[in-house]
Amino acid sequence: MSKASLHTLGCRLNQAETAIIAKTLSDSGFEIVEWGEPADLTVINTCTVTEQADSKCRQAVRQAIRKNPNAYVAVVGCYSQIAAETISKIKGVDLIVGNEHKLRVVDYLDGLKKADTPVIIHSSKISRDEFVIDSVGLYDHHARANLKLQDGCDFVCSFCIIPRARGRARSRKFSDVIAEAEKLAEMGYKEIVLTGVNIGTYSSGGRGFLEVIMSLEKVRGIERIRISSIEPTTIGREIVEHMAHSDKLCHHLHIPLQSGDNSILEAMCRKHTSEEFADFVEWAAERIPDIGIGTDIMVGFPGEGEEEFKSTRKLLADLPVEYFHVFTYSDRDSTPASRMPGKVDFHVKKERSRIMIEMGQRKRYAFYEGYFGKTVYVLFETESNGYWTGFTSNYMKLRVESEQALRNQIREVSPIRIEGDTLIGELA
Ligand code: SF4
Repeated sequence: MSKASLHTLGCRLNQAETAIIAKTLSDSGFEIVEWGEPADLTVINTCTVTEQADSKCRQAVRQAIRKNPNAYVAVVGCYSQIAAETISKIKGVDLIVGNEHKLRVVDYLDGLKKADTPVIIHSSKISRDEFVIDSVGLYDHHARANLKLQDGCDFVCSFCIIPRARGRARSRKFSDVIAEAEKLAEMGYKEIVLTGVNIGTYSSGGRGFLEVIMSLEKVRGIERIRISSIEPTTIGREIVEHMAHSDKLCHHLHIPLQSGDNSILEAMCRKHTSEEFADFVEWAAERIPDIGIGTDIMVGFPGEGEEEFKSTRKLLADLPVEYFHVFTYSDRDSTPASRMPGKVDFHVKKERSRIMIEMGQRKRYAFYEGYFGKTVYVLFETESNGYWTGFTSNYMKLRVESEQALRNQIREVSPIRIEGDTLIGELA
């Protein structure tokens, strides 16, 4: 049996798509092995959100070729969509597939025959139509699965290349979303994470994001539904109101802010102000006291001086936002921001990134500390040397020592201390 190993760079949506590719390969007779193990086929699902992401993709491809020089190498996804030409110059790459066709990479493998020049499957036009995906995802632990329900984005944030890499906003057919959730439940997954590029814009046959959540709640076997990143202007208060009463919808939101300064938000072409963001998260935290809220921050956007950066720090210092994903601005080809004046020095960007990462860590610790001595419920996913790790509904990472097999079980735990980014607890 041929072996395939897969690697994902970038976002949760990419993880969902790698899982779908893994399932199609497994259904076609491949044995899926861990990344880095000897394999006949390696698939690298790439990201292009920043310059750093591009460079990480090239590194991953070169590493894969070094480790498995005889394997057939397929490079798929966002970086393949944007930079097929550049990737084709890396010696050892056999196949490059852009976003439109990547889920069916299995159809283009050509008997794993290596050639001197790679085959490129690329379409510069990405369909705008509602879509179906005729496969479920395959994940290496049987607890949490990502469920793709949307792709693309019609917002035009001035720094963002994603609409070019993934096309216009489109939704997955409602019945297809529910059908995948049912199959995932049958396979034993207890938690599904709703993923897409701009999931709050979901719409299929007149049904929106809240309707899809309410229907997924009825799927027997699914015990938790988690919303992944959702744009501030697309999350209505009715979602939080529903979350407050639902026993399945996780008390967790990840809402990208990007900057706490209104002049920068305007230059970014974001659709919200810092005040609107603050009002919403404060209200959500009042409505659901144990809610865990995370955000994305971009430092070093053109024109971000000390004052503008201070506004971001000031805003976030007091808001009930528990963790940050910090991105450093880099020019993306043909985006409006790449042509803006006021580029920020590399070292200044690095320092701002460090400051925000540290602030995020402090906020996360403070949030975690609030749970010492209380009881939380953890869905355990992975085990290493007798330690089991999982997540709470409000997205705290928690580890316990136990000889019991806890995989895919939701158990009561008392958190007692913090180690790194993880709460350490004891099973109740
Ligand atoms: S909302 Fe803005 S940042 Fe997010 S994918 Fe769309 S254009 Fe990019």
